[in-house]
Amino acid sequence: MSCFKLGELILTSKPYAYVLDNKCRGLRCDYCFKKSDELKRCSQCTFLYFCNKICQTKAWEVHKAECKFIMKAKPNVPSTSMRFIALLIFNIQKKGQDQPVEVVYGRKVSFRTLMSHSEEIKKSIKRSQQMIALVGTLKDYIGKDNIPPPAEFIEIFGKMAINSFSIADNEMQTIGTGLYLGASVLDHSCCPNADVVFDGVNVYIHATNHIPHRDISKVFISYIEQLDLTEKRQNALLD
Ligand SMILES: [Zn+2]
Ligand SMILES: [Zn+2]
Repeated sequence: MSCFKLGELILTSKPYAYVLDNKCRGLRCDYCFKKSDELKRCSQCTFLYFCNKICQTKAWEVHKAECKFIMKAKPNVPSTSMRFIALLIFNIQKKGQDQPVEVVYGRKVSFRTLMSHSEEIKKSIKRSQQMIALVGTLKDYIGKDNIPPPAEFIEIFGKMAINSFSIADNEMQTIGTGLYLGASVLDHSCCPNADVVFDGVNVYIHATNHIPHRDISKVFISYIEQLDLTEKRQNALLD
């Protein structure tokens, strides 16, 4: 087949890193984002909530790196964006930038291959100031030994700012933030031909038009979400 048919699932992607928005804390599971009235807290930090032992055990793989810092920060709580960049840093500490790799229609994507626009960040006084402020608060949260060297930090910051998605529920309310290696290959357009839907924390991209070329570079998603997110993120980081 040489096209994407209307309604066809073009790609689905699991998050490389994700966080539940702090405003949903205690209402949704931090691992699968499902709503529940019977969530159980992490017995150590008591900050994250889970459906059950299964979600808690699966989450621990990632959460163990941040749990002790959340405990140390008390009575303060890390902001959603602070937790998110910390999780990206811990991911990279653990696996480097080349693992995992997602293959999207023949294109190999890893954290290393993501765009960062780091040159623009270095040139922009406003962006640089935001970054310096972020490093200051991040040092208090995860300790200065966990902060990557400046050149690497700019790359991580840029990749986060450009490639993150707001994760929405089925009423289109933002409930979290995620970075998806697979979905990051998609370009943005004011005339998108594909839409972005989430099921829990996973993203699904469907064709909303007939796309005559079965070529991922001809698939466009709306950029409003992303601009929105960048704005929100900038404000969140400034906070
Ligand atoms: Zn914990
Ligand atoms: Zn769950």
